[in-house]
Amino acid sequence: MRNKSVVTEAYQIRVAAELIELGARLQLLQEETSLSRERLLKLYKEIKGVSPSKGMLPYSTDWFMSWSPNIHSSLFMGIYRFLVKNSSLSEVEALVKSYRLYLEQIGVSGDEPVLSITRAWFLVRFCNANMLQLAVCTECGGQFVVHTNELYGDYVCGICHPPSRAGKTKPKIRTVAALGQVGG
Ligand SMILES: [Zn+2]
Repeated sequence: MRNKSVVTEAYQIRVAAELIELGARLQLLQEETSLSRERLLKLYKEIKGVSPSKGMLPYSTDWFMSWSPNIHSSLFMGIYRFLVKNSSLSEVEALVKSYRLYLEQIGVSGDEPVLSITRAWFLVRFCNANMLQLAVCTECGGQFVVHTNELYGDYVCGICHPPSRAGKTKPKIRTVAALGQVGG
């Protein structure tokens, strides 16, 4: 641990506990806090009552492109960008706060959350690494997650043009409207 002060450690534990409550995987906790793997495992078990799952983490950017995940990811990313730009939160604090706001928005619109906190974390990393970016929908003006290095001059989002199979499962969330509420 770089800084062993009690205050720093208490802060790290609080961040880790929040991430665990939101469902974060162990790798995320290891990268976002300076706590040891042993401490994190202990904390995880204490909060969740079980050990963290050992499965592979979702590394692919493709998941964010499928229809419903894309709408949810775009909503989250809009909130995240807004918070980073308009607050002095650290990256991990912005992640936690945006994810809570995302869950709130989903709850208000009556949808089920599709994006996990671990996927949200990957999304931020993919955007920071310029593997993903936001493109503006030419119909609604909302910003949506797309692959970098492709042309999006006539981009139309999945809310404006849902695939025919979507039918009644069309999400009720609105990315642009949601952002307005976050600001207020
Ligand atoms: Zn649109």
